[in-house]
Amino acid sequence: MNNEHEMATDQEIINRKRKSSEEDDHNHDLQLTLSSSFTPTTPIPPPPPPHFLRSTPMFNATPPPARRNRPILYWRPGKSETVPPPFPWASPRRATVQSLAHLESQQIFTITGEVQCNKCEKSYEIQYDLREKFNEVGGFIVKNKAAMRDRAPNEWLNPVLPICKFCQKQGSNVKPVIVEKKREINWLFLLLGQMIGCCNLTQLKYFCKHTNNHRSGAKDRVLYLTYLGLCKQLQPNGPFDPY
Ligand SMILES: [Zn+2]
Repeated sequence: MNNEHEMATDQEIINRKRKSSEEDDHNHDLQLTLSSSFTPTTPIPPPPPPHFLRSTPMFNATPPPARRNRPILYWRPGKSETVPPPFPWASPRRATVQSLAHLESQQIFTITGEVQCNKCEKSYEIQYDLREKFNEVGGFIVKNKAAMRDRAPNEWLNPVLPICKFCQKQGSNVKPVIVEKKREINWLFLLLGQMIGCCNLTQLKYFCKHTNNHRSGAKDRVLYLTYLGLCKQLQPNGPFDPY
């Protein structure tokens, strides 16, 4: 019994020592692991790129946000600043006419437009001599600009309209035909006939909007800006700055 006990005891001691040795080894390994994990000389790996955080391409049904959120730049249909010129004297830019020098270099001396009688309802074309009519408008501005105080005078607000060639005996007047599509308005014809006042406020604001003029205010204000703006387009170095 005693021997067995002693033997068992000896064996227990051996086992205890072995276990203790294993624990030491384990502790040593743990220390090594900890010391290697927290050693300051080991560089901290950079965070993975964002695409690694998402699912693999196989499950990636939606495109990456960067691509999905990329702004799409395009002109709204029919809203670009350039349009097909509606007349030989119009520029491709909206509400803009060619300069006088350019027109004369292109042998354009006559400007045509359509008018319609309120009474007989017949419509026909009127021709204006470009140079002669521009001198009339320009001369009026030079003479009266100071008195205008940035507002269209009565002559422009209530234009004198031509007499209808079909019913002139009755003294009927014709009005310029102003098309519904604002980009096709015959601005130069209206200027030369000093009939821009036949435009409504929306049409005048359209002109000012596309020629970078202040476009709020009453009709006399935007009408004044339209007259001077068109004259400046025709003669950029002329005395037609609105202010
Ligand atoms: Zn008529």
